[in-house]
Formats: sequence, C-alpha cells, structure tokens
Amino acid sequence: MYIDGKQLKKVFENAKKEKYGLVAANFAGDVVARGIIQAGDFSKADMIVQISMSSCKFASGKKQDVYEGVRILAGLAKSIAKQYETGVAINIDHCTPEHVDWLKFIINAKLASMVMIDASAEPIEDNIKVTKEIVELAHQNDILVEAELGRIKGSEDEVSSKESVYTDVDEAVRFVKETGVDLFAPGIGTNHGVTKGEKIELNIDLLNELAAAFKENNLDVGLVIHGASGLTPKQQKQCVMAGAVKLNKDTRFQMEFAKAVYQYWKQNEDAIAPPEGVDEADFMPDKDRFDYRRWLRIAEEYVETAAIKLFDIMQCRNKSLFKK
Ligand SMILES: [Zn+2]
Repeated sequence: MYIDGKQLKKVFENAKKEKYGLVAANFAGDVVARGIIQAGDFSKADMIVQISMSSCKFASGKKQDVYEGVRILAGLAKSIAKQYETGVAINIDHCTPEHVDWLKFIINAKLASMVMIDASAEPIEDNIKVTKEIVELAHQNDILVEAELGRIKGSEDEVSSKESVYTDVDEAVRFVKETGVDLFAPGIGTNHGVTKGEKIELNIDLLNELAAAFKENNLDVGLVIHGASGLTPKQQKQCVMAGAVKLNKDTRFQMEFAKAVYQYWKQNEDAIAPPEGVDEADFMPDKDRFDYRRWLRIAEEYVETAAIKLFDIMQCRNKSLFKK
C-alpha cells in the first residue's frame, strides 16, 4: 500500500527504536519499481521508492516534461503498491533550489510522501531559508522533508560535487533546529555513483556524533546515507547501528538490470540474429525469446533478488507496520 508522510513518520520512529534502516530505491520505470516493491512485500519490509528529476525527464520521453514525468512515475508506483500490504512511500530525490516550483507542485498535488530539498551547494543561510519554506508547505500537506548539509562526492542527476565535505556537527544542529526537517543527510564520506567500499573514507564516528547531538538537543530527526551503493554490507550495517534510518540505493539496481539483460542476450543472440554460417534468408527469428516481456521480467527478478538481500543487510525484514 502507498503510505503518506504521517504513516512514514511512524515507520521512521519504529526504525529508530528497533535499529533498522529503510531502503530508498530510485526507479525510472515499471521494471525496477515492480522489482523493489515485490521484494518489500516478500520480505515484509516497508520501503521508499525514489523519483529524481532526471527520471521524470526520462519517463516523459522526448518532451522532457518533468511535471508529466512525475505524474507518470508517482502514479506507477502508487498503482503497483496498491496490490500489496507492505508500506511503500514515495520520495522526490535531490531537488535543487532552482527547481523549487516543481517541488511545490508535487507537494500541492500530494504526489509524494516525502521530498528532498538539496540546497547544500548554497551558503548555509540560503540553505536554511529555502529548506524552511519547503518544510512549512510540505508539513501542511502531511509530507516529510529531507535536506542536506555538507557535500556528497560524485554526481547524481542535477547534483554533482568534486569533493566530499564532512558535515559540521554544530552547524547540523542549528540547521535542523531552524528548518524543522524530518530527515537529515550529512556528508560522511560516501560517494554518489560507482564506488567500492574500501576506497570510501566512511566517517562512522561523525554519524555517531550527529545522532548524539540531535538526541541531546531533543531534535526528532532521522539520518540518511546517500551514495550507499558503494558501501560494503558491513559498512551499511555500521551506518544503521549508528542511527541511519534511510539508505539511498540507485546504482546497484541499475547494475543488476544491466547484468540481467547482458547475460540474457549473450545466451539468446540467435533469437534475433542468424548464427555464424546461416544465411539471413534462411534465418527465422524466435518471437518467444525476443519478446521484451520475457527478458524484462528477468531483469525485474534480478532487481527483486538484490533488493531482498538489501532488506536483510538493513535488518528491516519482517518489520513492516502494515503487513504482519
Ligand atoms: Zn543522493
């Protein structure tokens, strides 16, 4: 089932209490959305599916209309989620300040359960101002808000940074206090995009310090890890134990999708092309094998299997508040 911000807040509270993390998976179409939602239902894990602006451009097609694109993707996720009992929340990933009108449209149309306003490239005063404005509007519509302070290395959609900048704890406390955000994404050394665990200088101590500082100041805020695809299972568990309640995953699912398609076509090339020595005129393509429903279903299963493993790592299996 699709859950709104109010219901999602309860899920985050439970995650904090019971020390597990929610998987937040990006999708740009039906195959990945089905794979992760089905995995959540199988694992009895509530989850978040994420929509980025560039996914909306993709979903709209040549028109690149991000307003229609978000309607398409949010509608798709809500319809798939409706068939299952586990909680599925929708998040709008990394919206930078120049696209704030688009974000307001999404909030007013209640297309998502939560949104992320990312003004981390701006000076802190400007970041606070725009984040606060979004928080006020979102909360009126039962939508949660995530924001970022510090920089996460690598590129993701409209956002890219050459360096990772560690978040300052005092600044973070001030930021959360003044903006009233529900979720906070610190820079702790993770990277957006393709990376490997060992190369990441993950600052778990900083994550612990942030969690302690928020608690000390009675700030009810959840910690989010971006660029989590490159983390080893051990590092992901460390993040959850340190108090992270949401880990973003995008690259991993893209890789699973590509692997499935590659392996399928490596084995089934003769379904669309004549094998060596066979003349084009004598060749009969095999509809049963080139029908895209056949191989996209396999990609969906790869995504589903990867997501089930992630739910295990995040220890959110059998934790659904909605499916018992
Ligand atoms: Zn991110």
